[in-house]
Amino acid sequence: MADLGIPRNTIEVLQRHHFTFQKKYGQNFLIDPNVLDRVVRAADITAEDCVLEIGPGIGTMTQRLAERAGKVAAVEIDRNLIPILEETLAPYPNVTIINEDILKLDLRQLAEEMWEGRPMKVVANLPYYITTPIVMGLLEGEALLHSITVMVQREVADRMQAGPGTKDYGALSLAVQYYARPEIVANVPPNCFLPRPNVGSAVIRLTRYEEPPVQVADEKKLFALIRASFNQRRKTLANSLGNAAGLKVSREQVTGALEELGLSATIRGEALTLEQFAALGNLL
Ligand code: SAM
Repeated sequence: MADLGIPRNTIEVLQRHHFTFQKKYGQNFLIDPNVLDRVVRAADITAEDCVLEIGPGIGTMTQRLAERAGKVAAVEIDRNLIPILEETLAPYPNVTIINEDILKLDLRQLAEEMWEGRPMKVVANLPYYITTPIVMGLLEGEALLHSITVMVQREVADRMQAGPGTKDYGALSLAVQYYARPEIVANVPPNCFLPRPNVGSAVIRLTRYEEPPVQVADEKKLFALIRASFNQRRKTLANSLGNAAGLKVSREQVTGALEELGLSATIRGEALTLEQFAALGNLL
């Protein structure tokens, strides 16, 4: 089977099917075989693996996944791509093409039907407009997950991997790092895509923890606390949490808890580690 990742092969398929790109679906297809190999290598796929690919496009990455994995489920929203995928992926009997919106799909049921609910590896060049709901949906969802290896906007990858005291550190960093160990694998320039996106990209691998790295009495409360702490980045924690609707804690309770943790009463959320947020949440 010809490598679809070679630009002239992508263009040939697109022209033969009179395909027009839909901006609303974040369609920027990868046309660099080295980058495609890099993503698939980072995902560490073996013949035992069950792989979910989100947004296969014309099947460029799917080809590579199908050659290595046990089973691949490829979920694509754009129905104009389905006849193309049926053609390009015809040589791979281990691929199932699903014409659905990934945000509406019951992934636990899919995993049950496809691979008896075993943990899956997710691989994708994501549609950037829905990166956060897709990634958080996978991390918080009920389908068993081994890892997520995805192309995302460079800034988003930086935010997912950032630690305390950096400008990129925030609610997304903490939410991701509660569930998974992030690792940026590669930075990817716009000229590796057709059409070229207006932003830089990066490949990030998130390896899901079997157990979260911190113990909390109430996960929902921890995330409400984290969100409130970063809602007004420039404010001290005592001020932002003491005012936050829905948290029901007073400024005095916050300063008391901070003192108990040996932290300054004027500290800001951006200085706290996940462990410190968990301890603060448990105290409050
Ligand atoms: N994997 C292909 C590649 O690398 O060349 C295409 C990647 S492109 C960045 C994103 C893909 O996700 C497109 O094929 C787009 O149609 C699809 N997509 C967008 N929104 C989606 C959704 N809600 N559910 C499933 N697929 C979606």
